[in-house]
Amino acid sequence: MDNPCLRCGACCAYYRASFYWTEADPFLGGTVPPELTVPLTPHLVAMRGTTHPPMRCVALDGTIGEQVLCTIYPRRSSSCHDVEPWEEDGSPGTRCSKARAAHGLPPLEPRTDRPGPGDSPLPLSA
Ligand code: SF4
Ligand code: SF4
Repeated sequence: MDNPCLRCGACCAYYRASFYWTEADPFLGGTVPPELTVPLTPHLVAMRGTTHPPMRCVALDGTIGEQVLCTIYPRRSSSCHDVEPWEEDGSPGTRCSKARAAHGLPPLEPRTDRPGPGDSPLPLSA
């Protein structure tokens, strides 16, 4: 399956990527590089670049709508799993379509093979 996220990146430049602060604390098993985060509340941090416009996660490399890459993909936060390209029934993801529309991109075509859960955006390779 061709991975449309590698030619998109819209959700990484639309939604706030916030999560519990321990996900960015290596001493507590966190994986997100803390230097790429900013404090949000006493309990939450967010990826730099996603707290106010112009939105663009600092970990996103490339040109939106052309070719992109999450530079910390294996270490990304739980919130980065929230946007899926497709719903479990194969229809375009609601949050995906909203982010793509904000960047002038059309919704993805429906998938007929029913992707099921776990199709997260922006893996390092297709
Ligand atoms: S999940 Fe959707 S909006 Fe996010 S990168 Fe993939 S195709 Fe783009
Ligand atoms: S998937 Fe990567 S580039 Fe996208 S918001 Fe998460 S950390 Fe940032």
